[in-house]
Amino acid sequence: MEKIPYINLTEPHRRLKAELLEAVGRVLDCGGFILGEEVAAFEKEFAAYCGTRYAVGVANGTDAITLALKALGIGPGDEVITAPNSFLASASGIALAGARPVFVDVRDDFNLDPSLLEAAITPRTRAILPVHLTGRPADMDAILAVARKHKLAVVEDAAQAVGARYRNQRVGSFGAAGCFSLHPLKNLSACGDGGVITTNDEAVYRHLLKARNHGLRSRDECEFWSLNSRLDALQAALVRVKLPHLDAWTEARRRNAAFYRERLGKVAQTPTELAHEFCVYHTFIIQTDRRDELQRHLAERGIETKIHYPIAIHAQDAARSLGYRPGSFPVAERQVGRILSLPVFPELTAAQLEAVATAVCSFYRQA
Ligand SMILES: *Cc1c(COP(=O)(O)O)cnc(C)c1O
Repeated sequence: MEKIPYINLTEPHRRLKAELLEAVGRVLDCGGFILGEEVAAFEKEFAAYCGTRYAVGVANGTDAITLALKALGIGPGDEVITAPNSFLASASGIALAGARPVFVDVRDDFNLDPSLLEAAITPRTRAILPVHLTGRPADMDAILAVARKHKLAVVEDAAQAVGARYRNQRVGSFGAAGCFSLHPLKNLSACGDGGVITTNDEAVYRHLLKARNHGLRSRDECEFWSLNSRLDALQAALVRVKLPHLDAWTEARRRNAAFYRERLGKVAQTPTELAHEFCVYHTFIIQTDRRDELQRHLAERGIETKIHYPIAIHAQDAARSLGYRPGSFPVAERQVGRILSLPVFPELTAAQLEAVATAVCSFYRQA
């Protein structure tokens, strides 16, 4: 039995190996390992891709969130609203800026429910951090309207959604800043850790150039204490090789998603896509009864699946001091027991897709 992995991290690199090694050679030959030309060139290319004026490379997606919030002057005593069903870094990025994460429940599409935002706003609220979870854009019109009304900043967690569009505009370009991760599991990835912040605000951009580099204004002058959170030149050079392939990879993910939607729509709840959305399917998450049994059934047939995520952020030990209880977010909590992420990576073959769909259908037919 051929095993079907959840993701394949070797095949895309095998196909691009000559170009990737050439990029590594370029960095070795010039010896510029920290910032420099490769990082600047990547930032320019990434900003152009996202449709923003600026991009700043940082060490990872979590630092991107922390640094973006700090650049907006958000810190101790402030509250930032985000989703409880995200990867935990949406919240830790807020906490590491010194602010308090405040959660608001999500909708069936896994993204923030804008109708619940106003009830969560207090005099301390400074920003909303929508997560474009699974690669599906959050409901930006409604979120931006609430933000405008209450004079809140919007910082997008676009770590799972590079290339996704809402009303034909790329995510990361809606708020004061957009935060991206280049972690190897993301749709556009480095060969190690990396992150990027996008912005159209020149003041935020100028601040971030210092904030990612010890708060240094020049080689020797430190303006404020800050992280060492730079994107490696080697990683920038490698991601520059991959960026031109991103749209083709996204199309492959979308084809895979369309196949599953067609084949599984009758046996499980599959993700929808509205006319004004362009989703990039970082994950393809179905919602089903008897999820654990289904996951075992697939594993027995050599099909690897994941759960994103098995513990809601407000239920983590790290979040205990925030004071949430079971029942605080009924939609997100119900989803925890019903979600299953199927393999959707670009290199899946037609036979593999067929095998996954057949195995899911056979589970429900047996029942
Ligand atoms: C991956 C991820 C992050 C964190 O990115 P890292 O590069 O791993 O620090 C933040 N938010 C979301 C939604 C993510 O998926």
